[in-house]
Amino acid sequence: MTDYHPMWTELGLDLERHDVLLEALGGMYSDLFLGQKNRPKSMDYFDFVVSEIHGLRVKELQDHRAAGGKVVGLYCVFVPEDLILAAGAIPVGLCAGAQFAVPDAEEVLPRNTCPLVKSSFGFKLSRTCPYIQASDFVVGETTCDGKKKMYEILADYHPTYVMEVPQKKTPLGRQLFIEEVHGLKAKLEAETGRAITASGLAEATRLIDGKRRALQRLQGLRKARPAPISGLDALLIVQIAFYDDVVRFTEKVNALCDELEQRVEHGEGIASPNAARIVVSGSPMAIPNWKLHQLLEESGAVVVGEESCTGTRYFNYLTPANDGTVDGQLAAIADRQLETNCACFTPNDERLDDVVALARGWDADGVVHYDLQFCHTFANEAVKVERRLAGEGVPLLRIETDYSEEDVGQLRTRIDAFLEMI
Ligand code: SF4
Ligand code: SF4
Repeated sequence: MTDYHPMWTELGLDLERHDVLLEALGGMYSDLFLGQKNRPKSMDYFDFVVSEIHGLRVKELQDHRAAGGKVVGLYCVFVPEDLILAAGAIPVGLCAGAQFAVPDAEEVLPRNTCPLVKSSFGFKLSRTCPYIQASDFVVGETTCDGKKKMYEILADYHPTYVMEVPQKKTPLGRQLFIEEVHGLKAKLEAETGRAITASGLAEATRLIDGKRRALQRLQGLRKARPAPISGLDALLIVQIAFYDDVVRFTEKVNALCDELEQRVEHGEGIASPNAARIVVSGSPMAIPNWKLHQLLEESGAVVVGEESCTGTRYFNYLTPANDGTVDGQLAAIADRQLETNCACFTPNDERLDDVVALARGWDADGVVHYDLQFCHTFANEAVKVERRLAGEGVPLLRIETDYSEEDVGQLRTRIDAFLEMI
């Protein structure tokens, strides 16, 4: 096995703490993922990616930088990956899903901040995320208040650029976001010294749409009964989509889908055909946040969809046709991103339609609404989701949690009761 310690030293990681983190992650991964019965063979690739999570992929980023390229970190699906690729840079989603560095963040940020915000900031403070260390700068966004204020503080520790995302999907909001996409283009060109051309951008968008199509194909296969893949594995794949090489990742997801098609044809699945089918909706689950899926699937349910930024909100939207000029493509990218039904928008009623469509289309027996603690946008919107689903006759369980293990027993009891009820 390659020893990556010299690379981690070069990146300025706290080696001692980083070793502790990797060991804990490795143990958790084998317990949760490798022990699943009847897993698709093509999950081997994704297991390999996780086994090299802070190794090979980080080395690829470092090699890219050594050859003069840039790496750009991001935390939100609103930051257009294709624009970054078109500048010859590599976009990479940053670590934000572990309790590990939350106490570090709480030394600086208020405790009553969402765990995703605390985790991302804590990883920087504790010097345990090689991805932020390898990123030349981070692109933040003005989505929720927690993140946008955190970016101001993060800028004291790491080069940070913030895009403005409108709060309303009006013509004025659209105009603002198109200008912000132009602003990001200028920033990327200044950082990389490379002009974004119409052909380069079209190619990058083709790649990103290809990744989204592969994930849509995977999501489509989860309609089958029995489900051909576990919710845990499907969630993991979307989490990996944020940082793996786009071409290789797309190929591997399509290869997995070929295998899943065979399974569906032969009526093979990961769970019994009678297992309760659950849709999860709400706050994103950044890697390695597997807590809710673990609890649901250990209790005998199977998760068949995530209305989440680590789910349909990441891959549902494709770039609309445009005139092929740089300006036309940038407007199309802005329109594509603005389709995202994030709770940061007001109103955001389209999200309610998305949840219903997922529950109905995937023949779900119930929906679990997932709020990260102190995530006010999704917590408030849960009221509307609850009312809408009640009107549709779809059972709903509302869960509010963080990244710690403290409430696991209580959550398990509530989940068991919910599954029994449906
Ligand atoms: S939930 Fe909203 S703010 Fe969070 S990643 Fe998704 S789009 Fe961005
Ligand atoms: S989960 Fe909610 S509070 Fe946390 S970063 Fe996302 S939108 Fe903000």
